[in-house]
Amino acid sequence: MEIKDPAVKARMEQARKLTDSIFGKKVYIRGIIEFSNCCRKNCNYCGIRRGNTSVVRYQMSPDEIVAKAESNLKQGIKTIVLQSGEDMSYTKEVLVDIIKRIKALDSGCAITLSIGERSEEEYKAFKEAGADRFLMRFEIADRELFKKLHPDDDFDERLAAIKTLKKLGYETGSGFMFGIPGEAPDADDQNIALLKELGVAMVGCGPFIPAEGTPMEGSGIHADIERCLDIYSKIRLAMPNVNIAAATALDAVDKGARKLSLSAGANVVMPNTTPAKYKDNYSIYERKGKLDDNIADAKKLGAELEKLGYTPLWNQRGDSRVK
Ligand code: SAM
Ligand code: SF4
Repeated sequence: MEIKDPAVKARMEQARKLTDSIFGKKVYIRGIIEFSNCCRKNCNYCGIRRGNTSVVRYQMSPDEIVAKAESNLKQGIKTIVLQSGEDMSYTKEVLVDIIKRIKALDSGCAITLSIGERSEEEYKAFKEAGADRFLMRFEIADRELFKKLHPDDDFDERLAAIKTLKKLGYETGSGFMFGIPGEAPDADDQNIALLKELGVAMVGCGPFIPAEGTPMEGSGIHADIERCLDIYSKIRLAMPNVNIAAATALDAVDKGARKLSLSAGANVVMPNTTPAKYKDNYSIYERKGKLDDNIADAKKLGAELEKLGYTPLWNQRGDSRVK
């Protein structure tokens, strides 16, 4: 794919050079298990928001989650990412038990949670049970637009939750969505500045992709591939040591964009290891289930990475260099 804007091309080259100097050509692998698509919240953009009655809801049982984690570990995926809507039926006790059971399978693995907002007491209990990392995007730095998009959320509380996670010793990740209708012309600068200010260890950013059955379903995709890659480059240049995940949503903008983001500074890929019978229902945006990799494709993805000149790091936790 040819990058037309010379400034974007130059930034990508600079970002990859910097990434090479810190990480070499190595790529960390994380396996995501989307264990529930039930959510108490109604974020306007999200396909699994509680008001979307067209979604077929599912909840994986603790046994199913642990079995999936075990199969990932056996395949050399040492980071287990547990992601879900804000599903409070997974109580503190249930999640603590799941975390402990996964850690008992392999004490050297890393567990990442991406389950939304909970109390500090719960975050603490998950940490003590063995959770290592937590992903919580701030979604957008513009507080007015944040308010419009999140009928149930408060911008300051979101930032406070990210800071609490850091304080509790989680390797904390955050990020934002871009290409959101109504965003300011300098949205990318605002978002990257907030990311830097938060001083996170991991970054997850991706374009907004409309989802059926949401108030934003007809909004269209507003970020082109060059903007996506430019944002990745700018993040790498602003935060040299962070782990940057190549978002699946990039492939909805342009097939192959996710892999291309490695040329712009991404150093983490997150194959989707949600069981096939559930995957299509984790429909946070259109066709997501089709864009994701299942576990079989994770190996294929590894081969593809090698073809591109990268070394996938199987059997390694890939902790962040940011302490
Ligand atoms: N419920 C948790 C939370 O909100 O942090 C974790 C799951 S949530 C589905 C994970 C991320 O999906 C969100 O942080 C959001 O940025 C992203 N997301 C949701 N809807 C999206 C959409 N329509 N397009 C792109 N990303 C989306
Ligand atoms: Fe729920 Fe997260 Fe989707 Fe918001 S983004 S509706 S909290 S799953």
